[in-house]
Amino acid sequence: MSNNRDGAPDAMVGARSDLDAVEVGARKRQLRVWRGVAVAVLVVGTVGAMLAAGSVARNDADQSRRSFAAASAGVASTLQLAIQHEDDLIVSGAAYLAGNPNGSNAQFLQWATSVQALARYPELQDFGNAVVVPASDLSAFARRAEMHPWAPLGPNGRFEVVPPGRRAYYCFGTVGQVRNAEVGAPAGYDFCATGLGAALFAARDSGEGSYAPFTVGKVLELGVATPIYRGGVVPGTVAMRRSAFLGWFGTSIRPDVILDRALQGHPGLAVAMAYQAGGSNAEFRSNNHAHGDHSATTDLHNGWTVTVVGVVATGGVLTHPNAFGLLLAGFLLSMLLAALIYVLATGRARALRLVGDKTGQLRHQALHDALSGLPNRALITDRIEQLLARSRRNGTVGAALFVDLDEFKNVNDTLGHAAGDRLLQAVAARLITTLRDVDTIGRMGGDEFVVLIEGATLERAPELVAERILEVMRHPFELDGVGTPMTVTTSIGIAAGDREQPGDLLRDADVALYLAKAAGKNCYEVFRPEMEANVRRRNTLDFDLRAALKGDQFHLAYQPIYDLADLTLIGVEALIRWDHPTLGEIQPDEFIPLLESSGQIIDVGRWVLHEACTQAAAWRDRGSNLVVSVNVSGRQLDRDAIVDHVREALRASSLDPAMLTIEVTETAVMRNIDTSAQRLRQLKGLGIQIAIDDFGTGYSSLAYLQRLPVDCLKIDRTFINAITESSESDALIHTLVQLGKDLGLKTLAEGVETPGQVDHLRGENVNEVQGFLLARPLDPTTLETQLLAPNRPTTPTGHPTA
Ligand code: C2E
Ligand code: CA
Ligand code: CA
Repeated sequence: MSNNRDGAPDAMVGARSDLDAVEVGARKRQLRVWRGVAVAVLVVGTVGAMLAAGSVARNDADQSRRSFAAASAGVASTLQLAIQHEDDLIVSGAAYLAGNPNGSNAQFLQWATSVQALARYPELQDFGNAVVVPASDLSAFARRAEMHPWAPLGPNGRFEVVPPGRRAYYCFGTVGQVRNAEVGAPAGYDFCATGLGAALFAARDSGEGSYAPFTVGKVLELGVATPIYRGGVVPGTVAMRRSAFLGWFGTSIRPDVILDRALQGHPGLAVAMAYQAGGSNAEFRSNNHAHGDHSATTDLHNGWTVTVVGVVATGGVLTHPNAFGLLLAGFLLSMLLAALIYVLATGRARALRLVGDKTGQLRHQALHDALSGLPNRALITDRIEQLLARSRRNGTVGAALFVDLDEFKNVNDTLGHAAGDRLLQAVAARLITTLRDVDTIGRMGGDEFVVLIEGATLERAPELVAERILEVMRHPFELDGVGTPMTVTTSIGIAAGDREQPGDLLRDADVALYLAKAAGKNCYEVFRPEMEANVRRRNTLDFDLRAALKGDQFHLAYQPIYDLADLTLIGVEALIRWDHPTLGEIQPDEFIPLLESSGQIIDVGRWVLHEACTQAAAWRDRGSNLVVSVNVSGRQLDRDAIVDHVREALRASSLDPAMLTIEVTETAVMRNIDTSAQRLRQLKGLGIQIAIDDFGTGYSSLAYLQRLPVDCLKIDRTFINAITESSESDALIHTLVQLGKDLGLKTLAEGVETPGQVDHLRGENVNEVQGFLLARPLDPTTLETQLLAPNRPTTPTGHPTA
């Protein structure tokens, strides 16, 4: 299907699709840009987070290194201070002892209290002196100690050498102060018999203090001893030092206390202090073992070195919790931000796309009929404008065909709107397949379609198209949910050639359509300017009809019906006439369609039934048994009311139902064969007769006739007119009559105008005849005076009256 069919006009389509392409392109570009922005934000954010994390890690590492350096320096200086304290104590203790070599313990304690050594130095365990006691002096020394013990004696208050044993000399303390008496050395403790011995004598000989580790119980202690010489100064030579030697002043300290104090406030650090000078070699470590990868050694320049070990941040982001956290947070944040940007931006793009789609949809909806999908009035008008413009420019000719379904209102009324919609869709589909792709088909609303055709020269083209449409529409429609195939006919109005406005072409096509309807439907009319007057007249009639029934403007004419065999008057057909107040008598062909389309046919039909039955009853009362035939339109048959109306008319007139025939057309019955058949059976049940009017113009099918309670076939006058004109129509009449006879039905020939026709119909054994040859429709009075007067023949004489 071309653009012409499903979309906007070509120009609009082109412009629109260009526009759409531009819009789509712009939108895609925007989408790319936003995707880029999102990625950039992610990358920048991540890199930023990495840099920040790196910097934090590096900063922290620097900070860590700096604080490690500061901490280790602090530790070292604390230790240096502690050592300084020891040295101070040693110096002042040594000076006191040098000045009081034979002082009592009590005097020593006085001095110790004055210097508050234990209070000031928590690491200090005990301090005191040691003197060399030769084996020869041991017993005298022991006695003195037992008399004035300055330290615990052995059990039983005896002086006992610890460790026991006989040795050439001993090194015993004579004065001292102990922090904890329980762990203090007993009075008989021989310092020289411990590991300290060598250091003590080395110190005596060198004049320098000694540092040596030793164990008291389980505690590793540092023993510091310094030699004391007479006169308080260190003599120049070893020999002089030996001779001036008085003893040692020593302290015992717990390095762990110093080390712990030094490490206070530096968790995670470990420290070791080592002494190496002269013959001394001691090393102490703090209890906590930091798995440090970093160490700093400080030389205290007094033989001591302090080594601090600790962990220093390396500056690696992944090993640094803060930096790693920052990196992670930064990455997540930029992810979030990127996602947000992307979602917001694409959301906007999505929204724009949706709006675009929606706009497209709305545009389509605005220009297309929702039910059929065909262009609507707006789009058709636009197309006509282009068509007219092209025809002026290129000299082409265009035409609009207004296609309208006949009796569509009935479909809606009887089968419901859903079925009506399906029928319209089916009609649209059939139109599409019938026409060329270049033709435009649109729906104007309701059951009106428009076809636009265009060509170099149209000649008879619009008529040919109209004929094709009429032809394809004649085939029954099989609709879902509708049991029997549906027959629809169409009427078509054609307007061709140039017009000032698109609306003018449409209006003219509509006028032609109107007249096609008036001409009996299922046909087409080409617009001619004089038609407008016609249409005006119809509009006037349509308007005036509303007051006609109430205004008593209708009357019935009765056309006699004769038995063909002997031409006796056997019945009449009631034919309605309208006495228009200003226009005079108007024929039913002109106003019945108007009554049908306005629905007034129901009331008017009811009146006709009533009037005809009353008239027939009146004639019956005068002794003439005329069967009265009343035309019932499709619209009437579509309603249940018809049964009541007939019953009412019979009752009111007290006419024998057998004297009433109703005429229904094939097409009226076929519109909905099931309900029609049912209603006809109900009517038949009232005792009336049923005739099929205009027989032969519809389907004339044996199958449907068998289902209907029909008594008579009225063969349409077009066949009668054609008698003897062609062997074809003769054969057709023969078939139609034969059909009726096969079904056991009465046959009636309408519109008999010539004696030749009468002869021919006699040859076919047609039962009844009706036509101008025998009698025109007559007003009741004329009919009575001419045909029913008791002393007058019942066959027509002379010229029929009109
Ligand atoms: P119809 O049912 O086919 O009625 C016969 C029509 O043929 C009548 O036209 C009649 O005047 C005309 N006619 C009779 N003999 C001849 C003839 O020899 N030659 C020609 N050319 N015509 C002849 P009329 O009265 O104008 O009615 C036209 C149609 O109007 C009727 O066609 C019928 O379908 C409809 N009609 C008339 N009265 C009523 C009515 O009361 N109710 C309904 N629903 N329709 C009616
Ligand atoms: Ca009739
Ligand atoms: Ca007829």
